[in-house]
Amino acid sequence: MSSTMWTDKQRGIRVSQAELLCKNVCGYYGNPAWQGFCSKCWRERARKAEVQKQDPCQKNEGTPLTFSKFEEKKSNEKGRRVNTMRRLFWGGPSPPKRESSESQINASKAYQSLEVGDFTGFLKLLRNPSSQRLQSRCTAFLNTVEAYHDLPVEKQSDLVQDFYQNIAEYFSGLSLTEAQVSQMMEHVEKLIMTRLHKWVFCHDSCDDEQKDLALQRRIRSLNWVTPQMLSVPFPDQNAAITGDPFLPAITAIIEMDAKRAPQDKLACVSKCSQHIFEALSTSNSEPANADDFLSGLIYVVLKANPPRLHSNMQYVIRFGLPHSLMAGESGYYFTNLSCAIAFIDKLDGPALNLSPEEFEGYMLQRHAPSVHRGSERKRIASETQDLLHELKGRQEKLDQAMNALKLQLQHWEQAVEAQVDDAIAKSVLLQKEITAEYEMSKCCSSSGQAVALQESVLVLRDQDSCPLDTDC
Ligand SMILES: [Zn+2]
Repeated sequence: MSSTMWTDKQRGIRVSQAELLCKNVCGYYGNPAWQGFCSKCWRERARKAEVQKQDPCQKNEGTPLTFSKFEEKKSNEKGRRVNTMRRLFWGGPSPPKRESSESQINASKAYQSLEVGDFTGFLKLLRNPSSQRLQSRCTAFLNTVEAYHDLPVEKQSDLVQDFYQNIAEYFSGLSLTEAQVSQMMEHVEKLIMTRLHKWVFCHDSCDDEQKDLALQRRIRSLNWVTPQMLSVPFPDQNAAITGDPFLPAITAIIEMDAKRAPQDKLACVSKCSQHIFEALSTSNSEPANADDFLSGLIYVVLKANPPRLHSNMQYVIRFGLPHSLMAGESGYYFTNLSCAIAFIDKLDGPALNLSPEEFEGYMLQRHAPSVHRGSERKRIASETQDLLHELKGRQEKLDQAMNALKLQLQHWEQAVEAQVDDAIAKSVLLQKEITAEYEMSKCCSSSGQAVALQESVLVLRDQDSCPLDTDC
């Protein structure tokens, strides 16, 4: 009911298929991170720009070394380091030596036998003699990148992308189908990036962390946006009892941060997107269109506020397999997510069918949120507050109990020590008394016995110099 009411209005969120595609009209998906180009065209442009930049600075070698020149030189050196690394890794500027045809056939056979998506099987296969070449390449690459993990993250990205390209060429030389090659590439990506994640995710050399925080704050400031404002087909209030149909999508996008391989992060985006289409189909009789989907995605991102979203996107862009970003379902969903984030950045009144004043009012929290979502949020907030309070109380009680236990333990320890000392002293004394008694009975006459016993006890008392208990 509410959805028909809103579709009458001018839609604020619109996206055409052409807007999602590469500016070079190469047919692949583009991305705002690559200024609208696809990964392939973007890297080609970056490479050309680098060549143009390197030419003039070679001529100016004689000029005094100003700071900017110094910086330039430093970055050139870094570039040279990368080239040296490439040489080190690939064993000289000449292309790697051809494998013998026999080992190629063995490798092909082994890779062909691998089931789709069987990463564990791939790891087992790597230990096989037939995969020795692939295994040593991967190991050498990982060791090199780990040793140079302080390089700027863009350089690390270049290294990883070059590595993918080289490995893909190696697989193409084997007798594998295209599908088998991309399967193998996915395994290689997972292997490499699971290891490198801790080095290159949210790298020190870039401002990903600040951008994460800024995006998080931006999303939080928009927590008053309702599905109706975004023109997201949403079940009416009576159906609210069944809960938010977008919840599975929200969960899926939050899970993205926990994954380490770019393809696993992408899989979360795809899962989230599929859940959005399902949610849209429950509230809409017509099949969802691209605009509905994008609006749904914006709603889900606003509601989920996924952790480290910017870093996660950048990580996938820098270290993912280019093909899974440029084409196919995963590419389409990822491009839409990039659009959704760009949209959230620029979100204003007209996009939400609000006047600029209304929009400002909401942003300044002057307007009470109009739907149950706001009160729900308040309820959850106060519940969380209560829980936190209770937790704090419990923590305090626990601390007190811990202190009491510590004291008790100390007392007990002291008591045991005292008892042990006591027992030792008593046993020593007893031993001496028995010895003395024995000596006396052996060598003393019956007349002097009583006197000698008294004397020996007195001697013992002096030696021990401690008060004697009579009850021992
Ligand atoms: Zn392109």
